[in-house]
Amino acid sequence: MRTPIVAGNWKMNKTVAESVEFVRQIKTALPPATQLETALAGQPIALTAMLEAAQGSPLKIAAENCYYQTSGPYTGETSPTALYAAGIHHVILGHSERRQLFHEDDQLINRKIKAAIAAGICPIVCCDETMGRLITSQRVEWVVARILDDLKGLTAQQAEQVTIAYEPTWAIGSGESADPSQAEEGCYLIRQTLGHMFNETVARQTRILYGGSITPDNIKQMMAKPDIDGVLVGGASLDPRTFLELVNFND
Ligand code: PEP
Repeated sequence: MRTPIVAGNWKMNKTVAESVEFVRQIKTALPPATQLETALAGQPIALTAMLEAAQGSPLKIAAENCYYQTSGPYTGETSPTALYAAGIHHVILGHSERRQLFHEDDQLINRKIKAAIAAGICPIVCCDETMGRLITSQRVEWVVARILDDLKGLTAQQAEQVTIAYEPTWAIGSGESADPSQAEEGCYLIRQTLGHMFNETVARQTRILYGGSITPDNIKQMMAKPDIDGVLVGGASLDPRTFLELVNFND
């Protein structure tokens, strides 16, 4: 059974005080993590204060990025080891804004994924549905290219630490969500790709989220799809009341 998850990505929004206030406002209204996992990703400066504010609640606090080295002369970067030591166990990697605005490519994202896992942090890897070819001695398969490139060289055991977020770039922040059957198709293709790359267990166990203009109005239809295990939410996660509406999509 894959536990569903609603994860917010605040991006470069909110001061530390605003982040803490948000967490205080929602933390007592969240369902138990066995029923639905909830996570919020904030800026590095706010993470420790958010962790402190979330104590005693099921809310998980995530980072929005990290580097692939554990320490050293990398001005402005955040170490996965330092994140783990602070109590952060999830990190978003490969978000389309990182790919487009900061020119992160699959090779860099692949390194970051491996470093995060080595540090004990579970990556939430964002990808679109661009197809690529997987060529083995027995077959040639059409599969999701970013999954091939971003998860290249991982063992099945490492791959089990990964959550995938299928995010069509055009749907991010546009107000135009994929329709649920389109979103399901993308998530299904990703699951197939995981099966080809690793094995059926990884494919069956990996949580695959949809992201792109999710709101309280469309979340329920998305969550009803068999290969969609949750949502990664940008804009609609910025308001505490709306975030709670998302979390309580079944009510
Ligand atoms: C995102 O940035 O990952 C995202 C899904 O944003 P939005 O919900 O605003 O489309």
